[in-house]
Amino acid sequence: MTINIKEICEKDRNTVLHPFTQLKDFASGKLGDPTIVETGKGIRIQDAFGNHLIDGFAGLYCVNVGYGRTEVAEAISRQAYRLAYYHSYAAHTTDQLAILSDRLVKMAPGKMSKVFYGMSGSDANETQAKLVWYYNNLRGKPTKKKIISRERGYHGCSVVSGSMTGMSFYHDHMDLPLPHIVHTGAPHHYWGANANETEREFAARRAAELDQLIEELGPDNVGAFIAEPVLGTGGITPPPEGYWEAIQAVLKKHDVLLIADEVITGFGRTGSMFGSQHYGIEPDLITVAKGLTSAYFPLSASIVGEKVYNVLEEGADRVGAFSHGYTYSGHPIGAAAANAVLDIVEKEDLPGNAKEVGAYFQKQLKEKFAQLPIVGEVRGVGLMGAIEFVGDREGKKRFDPALKVGARISKAARDRGLIARAMPHGDILGFAPPLVTTKDEVDEIVAIAESAVKSVMDELIVAGQK
Ligand code: PMP
Repeated sequence: MTINIKEICEKDRNTVLHPFTQLKDFASGKLGDPTIVETGKGIRIQDAFGNHLIDGFAGLYCVNVGYGRTEVAEAISRQAYRLAYYHSYAAHTTDQLAILSDRLVKMAPGKMSKVFYGMSGSDANETQAKLVWYYNNLRGKPTKKKIISRERGYHGCSVVSGSMTGMSFYHDHMDLPLPHIVHTGAPHHYWGANANETEREFAARRAAELDQLIEELGPDNVGAFIAEPVLGTGGITPPPEGYWEAIQAVLKKHDVLLIADEVITGFGRTGSMFGSQHYGIEPDLITVAKGLTSAYFPLSASIVGEKVYNVLEEGADRVGAFSHGYTYSGHPIGAAAANAVLDIVEKEDLPGNAKEVGAYFQKQLKEKFAQLPIVGEVRGVGLMGAIEFVGDREGKKRFDPALKVGARISKAARDRGLIARAMPHGDILGFAPPLVTTKDEVDEIVAIAESAVKSVMDELIVAGQK
């Protein structure tokens, strides 16, 4: 298809309200033209000018099977021809939906029972909150409603999920968080630990703080704890040693449900099929999205454990039908896309690839970056990793935000053909390439990142800012 680039840019600027874009700078042209992304193959995308970029972030940590997978496109097309839509209300289903749900219940960690479908990670977490409230109402604990999430946790941007997200810029000017949602400290050892505090000691302290918070709120008022197995948008930060064991002991003690938000970690990213399996987490509810369809179709799922589901079923005579559902819950094209993607995940053992290539990736990141004078920490697991830049390594002090070090490094990488994301909470360059990435491709990614980091480091040194 030939497109008129100027016309597309003009239409876009005039009519698209872009997420996470400074609206005035975009409208005035200060941010330049939008990037028109046209095609993708493997780990690369191509823009309207024919420039190739390595997508070191798999879109938004989601295109796990890579771009241009004809098997998935064909499954979507087949289903669209056969039956483009039918709802799943009032006991209607499709073969693809039933097959997918059976697969998810069998492959998910813990004792899972049922799957409720949505279109995004945000709405799936919205559903999780309602399930927690419904569950506690049905079992006669109507005050057990507060949901605790963590600072730096990301769970979406809708009303409840945006409240769960522990980042103030998602709340400011949007009248959030809701009063039911409470935040506790992030499991971020580099920034959160006291001097000489080991990972285990720090993890135990975070668990003790959670225990104290639940005591203060009253255990009868706390329904659930939601967390990502690995902090994602909060800085791609694996948990400190012993964290999950200590946290789960606190939750059990207070009869508080655990929601594992596996939107990023589900389907292989950590090197295990689920992050919960990687860290010994036994969730009551699991949220998945992104990798479920590798973003070939918007589909999310709230996977419901036996403990919660049994209460819902037992209470049904009293409350009637389960009154929650979207027009697109269990969309057959989404289900067909997910089945085709899961076929690839299993056939190509993408968790295994994330483990093996991921170990190589983590080693390369550490070797190339950890000793640089502007790097505070290199961290990650499987095929997700981050480099955190600091102005003062010894004193652990960030750069002046006005220097925009993270954004400049991300731009320098992009100018060299690599998308690596500048993340919030400091100067962080994040990576989450597709799970089909090879070792040779890791070498390419790391080489470009190295050139980008060194170019900005040289600028800082010349300017006397380092
Ligand atoms: N949970 C996690 C852990 C996420 O990373 C995201 C998206 N980045 C979401 C929830 C929200 O998903 P969505 O953007 O599809 O609403």
